[in-house]
Amino acid sequence: MNVTYGAFINNEFRPIKGETFPAIDAGTGEHLADIARCGAEEIDDAVEAARAAFPGWKALSAEERAALLLKLADAVEANMRRLALIDARDIGRKVTECALDHQFAINQYRYFAASAITHEGWGRPIPGGYLMAKREPYGVCGAIIPWNVPAIMAAFKIAPAVAAGNTVVLKPDEHASVSTLELGKLIAEIFPPGVINIVPGMGDEAGAALTAHPRVAKLAFTGSGEVGRIVAVAGGQRLVPVSLELGGKSPNIVFPDAGNLDAVVDNTSFAAMYCNGQSCLAGTRLFVHDDIYDTFVEKMVAGFQRIKVGPATDESTNLAGLVSERQGKRVLGYIEKGVAEGARLLTGGQRATVPGHEYGYFIEPTMLEATNDMTIAQEEIFGPVLSVIRWNDYETMLREANDVRYGLAAGIYTSNLKNAMETADRLEAGNVWINSYFNLASGSPFGGFKESGIGSEYCHETLNMYTHLKAITVQNEPSAAWFLP
Ligand code: NAD
Repeated sequence: MNVTYGAFINNEFRPIKGETFPAIDAGTGEHLADIARCGAEEIDDAVEAARAAFPGWKALSAEERAALLLKLADAVEANMRRLALIDARDIGRKVTECALDHQFAINQYRYFAASAITHEGWGRPIPGGYLMAKREPYGVCGAIIPWNVPAIMAAFKIAPAVAAGNTVVLKPDEHASVSTLELGKLIAEIFPPGVINIVPGMGDEAGAALTAHPRVAKLAFTGSGEVGRIVAVAGGQRLVPVSLELGGKSPNIVFPDAGNLDAVVDNTSFAAMYCNGQSCLAGTRLFVHDDIYDTFVEKMVAGFQRIKVGPATDESTNLAGLVSERQGKRVLGYIEKGVAEGARLLTGGQRATVPGHEYGYFIEPTMLEATNDMTIAQEEIFGPVLSVIRWNDYETMLREANDVRYGLAAGIYTSNLKNAMETADRLEAGNVWINSYFNLASGSPFGGFKESGIGSEYCHETLNMYTHLKAITVQNEPSAAWFLP
């Protein structure tokens, strides 16, 4: 493929006038596409298009909006293989995972189609009348997403916003714009013009123009805490609501009564390596109880050494490459820092080469024995690197599990229900999985405690974030207010 993409506004791709930036195959370095480097002008046009489309879109019934979301889900499903292959090349993640991303996105379009219909306000009789609380969409929502799971991220923003009756201007990440722009082609066949607009570009150009735009009524951001703060400040300056989904450094806790250790090893490896560790949810701090530590870690190391590092487009690959050389060097830097701070390298730790994909940045699945205060256990690495931490005192382990600035997810493995539930209650995390990881059924609230974010996505309550509540009070007839003397 070698194509060009302008901004997608009013269901049309604009001709490219100014500068472009390339999409490159993260494994081979092959040039995939040229993409318009949009700025304030295109953002302004997209916001105007979304504003013009808003009254008509809001006026549709929830059933009518739901019907179009269901059509989008079907269209993505019909194109899933093609879109997954685009993502695999664009961001370097293995194609089988990228297909799952699209399946997850499809689930969200369907979930919010159903949710829109059941998203109700409330009402109650009052003396001589009635009180109603009605949910109304904000208007134009500005959404900004990262590169790691572009299909999921686009659906996380588009589905609830339009289900609730808003219109959208979405800025994809500059490292992962192609599949989102391809989504635009499907949107153009289904939605009225202007309901969903996609403006590619750099964060500090198109992104900043979107967050500063005076006609954007709500901001939704997923990405790093650093940029999340910038977006929150921009929203604060204009006093518009901002929802944030940010980073994570999630604990995965193995109790001595965890049961089938091979199954737990599989789960904890999946938690750390899925998405090549480039997941905000990744279970990157593995707390293993002293009683089973040696056996468990031996099994983990053996498992990591069986992982086949290979090309993203090869379905037999277990672990593909990172998104860029910059990200790869950053990950290796963290491994070096871990060793310098006293962590013991148990396996991996090096760049791997994949024949024919020498351009790509592949890193061996890496495991370090660490303590919770080390940099590798405190900072989000966003690569295939796991810190294993030994524990024996429950209270100390729990304090350490919570002793991190993030609070996105956590895993617990035990056959003792009481233990599991009490630990789940005490963990500072928006998502706690017991005896599994990444267990995200449709409707599961997805959001972070502490610096992992503000708001919950993927659940019925998400529609509250995309609507404001209006009270309408009705008296059956005017009666004296007993004010005037
Ligand atoms: P990033 O914050 O660098 O970029 C995210 C987006 O913000 C991109 O589209 C970028 O262009 C844009 N951006 C950058 N500067 C901007 C500015 N000044 N104004 C407006 N927009 C700007 O994040 P990243 O490196 O692409 O993604 C990795 C981060 O995302 C990790 O921290 C990860 O944990 C987080 N993440 C969180 C979730 C979640 O749901 N919690 C999901 C995926 C990724």
